[in-house]
Amino acid sequence: MTTLRKALVIGAGIGGLTTAAGLVRQGIETEVFEARSTPGRLLTGGGFMLWHNAFLSLRRIGLDEAVTADSVRMRFHEFRSDSGRRLARWHLDAPTERCGAPACALRRSALHKVLTEAVGEDRIRLDARLTGYTQDADGVTARFADGSTARGDVLIGADGLRSAVRAAMRRGFEPPPRYSGYTAWQAIARLPGESVVPTGTFFNLWGRGGRRFLYCRLNEDEVYWDAITSDRAARRIDTVRHTRAAAMAEAYRDWPEPIGRIIAATEEDAILPVSIHDRPPAGGWTDGRVVLVGDAAHPMTLNLSQGAGQAVESAVVLAGMLGRATPENLPAVLRAFEESRRARTADMVTTSWRIGTLGLVHSTALCRLRDLFMYTFFGTVARTQSYALMLDERLERDPVLPVARAAGSGGERSPC
Ligand SMILES: Cc1cc2nc3c(=O)[nH]c(=O)nc-3n(C[C@H](O)[C@H](O)[C@H](O)COP(=O)(O)OP(=O)(O)OC[C@H]3O[C@@H](n4cnc5c(N)ncnc54)[C@H](O)[C@@H]3O)c2cc1C
Repeated sequence: MTTLRKALVIGAGIGGLTTAAGLVRQGIETEVFEARSTPGRLLTGGGFMLWHNAFLSLRRIGLDEAVTADSVRMRFHEFRSDSGRRLARWHLDAPTERCGAPACALRRSALHKVLTEAVGEDRIRLDARLTGYTQDADGVTARFADGSTARGDVLIGADGLRSAVRAAMRRGFEPPPRYSGYTAWQAIARLPGESVVPTGTFFNLWGRGGRRFLYCRLNEDEVYWDAITSDRAARRIDTVRHTRAAAMAEAYRDWPEPIGRIIAATEEDAILPVSIHDRPPAGGWTDGRVVLVGDAAHPMTLNLSQGAGQAVESAVVLAGMLGRATPENLPAVLRAFEESRRARTADMVTTSWRIGTLGLVHSTALCRLRDLFMYTFFGTVARTQSYALMLDERLERDPVLPVARAAGSGGERSPC
């Protein structure tokens, strides 16, 4: 069987690097093309949550332990109202034991570092912005903004929400992403003190006036937070006359501690507002030898903390299927990949969107009703549904991807 000779991966985010790591592990020649010009800029961004399913997938490419080593394991996920009242508390130890993989908080840069090392820096070309591609019976050619080109058997578009590969696939016509109506102000604060923010709990506060606040400890010194403000709430946030930190402090002035302390401990430049978008689930992730993965294929809002988790899952599945593909059956393999991932990611996109609309509730009366709903259902029904969505049994059954033999061994692959 002739295996694939070369894969081109567009985008060195979580989806692109995970796919590339899976391909390199199987001995497939891989080159990653990233539009940004400096490795440092790739490592920006705050912290985030990776749930059990992401670690189960990372295990299949041998990277779960390296990522957990730089993460903090979460033992509780706690939902509160903006008065500080506890609405629900999920114990995460039992599912961790059951599925054999943790839920963790970590810096984005920590995950990027592990993935970059697994791919190999020499396989990542920076300052390479894809502008289009052409394909024929023998392969696919990627074109870049500097006039250069690259040729491979397969082109993987892992270039995020506003994917150029996706746009090229659709012959230049692509509706804009769907705007959620809210913004996430994400940051990492320097705030030591177990008594202020205890390690191991992911706090999730739902408030009145279209405001939410999430936070958790990342390590002894740092706390990751996300303030989510609806457009209506954001109209009162004045970043012309005030710094972002001062505007956030004002917006959350009446919220319980430690929120004021967390904001006060955050440097102005560390706060990054991101308007939240997704795309309604739709097929069409493949075009011959070209395929989309991660946010390019299935972008979702942040409410389930699953965008990166799903990017990792899809990337590992895609790499595994490409390891068994030939240049001849490649288009069919890519279609099978889409088929295998479409329903699961569509469920995630839809559920995440619905949860987000709960956060847009503005009036005090409706927020009280929502609190009651969360108090009644979030510790039981919602938790069960969320875990049923997150822990698909197949994730635990799928085999580990084979490791390629060392160079000089003729490129033969070892068995699983
Ligand atoms: C505020 C916020 C909080 C979040 N929290 C979580 C969380 O807790 N847990 C979770 O699982 N997910 C979370 N997510 C979602 C997660 O960040 C994304 O789903 C994930 O980053 C998607 O990875 P990706 O590699 O597909 O895309 P991206 O991370 O967008 O990477 C795409 C890469 O492609 C490059 N690129 C773009 N265009 C081109 C081009 N033309 N040519 C070459 N390169 C190009 C970009 O520079 C970038 O490096 C959050 C998102 C937000 C906004």
